[in-house]
Amino acid sequence: MTKCQKCQKNNVYVQFDEEKLCLDCYNGRMEKQVGVAATSYPEGIMIRDGEGKVHQFLLRKRIDPLGIFMEAIEMVESGYEFKIQGDLYGDQGELLLELIAKAERGMAENYVVRKCFRMAKAIILFETAG
Ligand SMILES: [Zn+2]
Repeated sequence: MTKCQKCQKNNVYVQFDEEKLCLDCYNGRMEKQVGVAATSYPEGIMIRDGEGKVHQFLLRKRIDPLGIFMEAIEMVESGYEFKIQGDLYGDQGELLLELIAKAERGMAENYVVRKCFRMAKAIILFETAG
């Protein structure tokens, strides 16, 4: 992974003008441009799905002239992803809660879909057995 050209520490997240920057440095640049700072937020969250299985998500926040973008990315290959966009001057704490609620809803729905699938399979098995 390429390192950020500004802090030389974090991995590159975005190309901004000619510079390759990490998310923190990018948000720092944006803060100067739009006058809104990214408030601190947890690095990750755990969400339990309907079956009680725990999923670990990485949280990200990006300041943009169009608003504040937050995403929760499951820390596994081709895992779940949830995104949300909020007002630039809105409450960032609220936005985080909304994102978590969305992810929790999504994980619960995923459980419902899988359960239905299993039921359908069980019915098919039952029919072939009979
Ligand atoms: Zn950086």
